[in-house]
Amino acid sequence: MGKEISLHNQTFSLYLDEQKIRERIIELARNINEDYQGKSPIILCILNGSFIFTADLVRHLDFPLTIEFVRYSSYEGTSTTGRITKIMGLKSDIEGKDVLIVEDIIDTGLTLSNAIKDLLKSNPASLKVASLLLKPSALIHDIHCNYIGFRIPDKFVIGYGLDYDELGRDLPEIYQLKDQA
Ligand code: 5GP
Repeated sequence: MGKEISLHNQTFSLYLDEQKIRERIIELARNINEDYQGKSPIILCILNGSFIFTADLVRHLDFPLTIEFVRYSSYEGTSTTGRITKIMGLKSDIEGKDVLIVEDIIDTGLTLSNAIKDLLKSNPASLKVASLLLKPSALIHDIHCNYIGFRIPDKFVIGYGLDYDELGRDLPEIYQLKDQA
């Protein structure tokens, strides 16, 4: 049996270990480095879930960059509420700048499609998206993700920044909810 952990009375099984995550981030960074040579983009970390992915990714990027943080909220427990609230916005002007959004996971795509709409109002020079995880079968909003770490099944995952009611963000690996239909 694989490694398991319990949080808030739910059991999660190990899904992606530290090495797999590290190796994939290095590959993603290689692609991003090729595309951004000669540019100096704003890396936009979508809080809270992306803080670890952003921190690991930027350490493999080899062009000058700035980092900004924004925060939207849509999740309660293990299923989406369908509502998005902006809790914390951008500190600097992105007009005419290259912006790379860094997201932890794209589920329905609601959070990201709202964030993109919001950011496009400020006329960035370019807007791209890097997401560590993507659940293709849950995606209902039409969004283009330029850099995808892992395509995963539509099951609730935690760890590596992702929480289950605020617990589990600190786990170095990614775990999947056990016995989810
Ligand atoms: P979406 O708006 O694409 O439906 O959901 C995006 C947000 O919901 C993510 O940024 C993340 O915070 C949360 N989310 C979606 N799927 C999961 C999941 O499997 N696990 C956790 N912990 N959060 C998720």
